[in-house]
Amino acid sequence: MAQAELQIDLGALKANWRALDAMTSVETAATVKANGYGLGAGRVAYALAEAGARRFFVAVAEEGAAIRAAIGPDLPIHVYGGHMADDAATLRDGALIPMLNSVEQLTRHVEDLPGAPFGIQLDTGMNRLGMEPAEWASVAEIALAQGPTLIMSHLACSDEPDHAMNAQQLATFRELTDGAGVPRSLSATGGVLLGREYHFDLTRPGIGLYGGLPFAQAQPVVRLSIPVIQTRAVAAGESVGYGNSFVAERDMRVATIAAGYADGIQRALSGKATLWAGDTPCPLVGRVSMDLLTIDVSRVDGPVEALDLLGPHQGVDALADMIGTIGYEMLTGLGPRYRRVYSD
Ligand SMILES: *Cc1c(COP(=O)(O)O)cnc(C)c1O
Repeated sequence: MAQAELQIDLGALKANWRALDAMTSVETAATVKANGYGLGAGRVAYALAEAGARRFFVAVAEEGAAIRAAIGPDLPIHVYGGHMADDAATLRDGALIPMLNSVEQLTRHVEDLPGAPFGIQLDTGMNRLGMEPAEWASVAEIALAQGPTLIMSHLACSDEPDHAMNAQQLATFRELTDGAGVPRSLSATGGVLLGREYHFDLTRPGIGLYGGLPFAQAQPVVRLSIPVIQTRAVAAGESVGYGNSFVAERDMRVATIAAGYADGIQRALSGKATLWAGDTPCPLVGRVSMDLLTIDVSRVDGPVEALDLLGPHQGVDALADMIGTIGYEMLTGLGPRYRRVYSD
């Protein structure tokens, strides 16, 4: 191994989709934005289609093309960002369904792509994307007459089951959409776990598929294995890495491995992260460099060829927790320099 390897277990990905699907009695789609949460949009979407997903969601129209190429012409792909200026050709060529977020987008869509399918996104309190209740009231009749294929909204606090915001958004979503006669979707991963009231006709999980919280029962999907370039003896009193921030308290053996902050291993992990040589924990010492990490491998007997940053001992959320971020950011930050190796 000369290049760090991101091993992606498509079998675990599929099992996670099936497990989330089994928690509801409605259709389970898949959110595959941001290059399939960093794991490779085409491979991920194809595997999820094999598992049974019949509908996909991306963030922006440009992301739809890779998904369309992977899954073929038939399954619907929705775009959360809706129909932005100059999106018409991309939407048409990919047969993508924009989730229209404003009257402005609705107008653009019917003018630029008359008769083309669309959905509606409503804002039920998150104040991020979607038509506000008053805006929706003013165009609902016209919009519904055009035959939207889906109406959706998004929960702000679904990873906190007891948060009052969940019930509040649910009530608002009902008020805005009851009787509309259009399939509805409110839930991502967190909403699936909130129970059947939140499921409506379709759920659209993302992070849980990829092994992240709040789906605590998820199977781990990624393993990140980083090869050792060289190993050296560091004597007590010597320093390691930029800024001399680490000084050895005792004689130690330090391995320099081939990945760094340019690969999404944030510099904030300096002095905090642990890597694993099989079952042996090995602390990261000194600063994270752009392309390199230095690891204390004193406790490992014999040669060390590679160390795992993500794997059975440490998932994306455990790593994210060390620096006050979330598994989503860790996963989507994993850069293009890894060799992505897929197993099923
Ligand atoms: C990202 C996203 C999802 C998927 O959310 P997860 O928490 O990853 O399951 C669903 N809906 C919208 C609008 C999103 O932006």
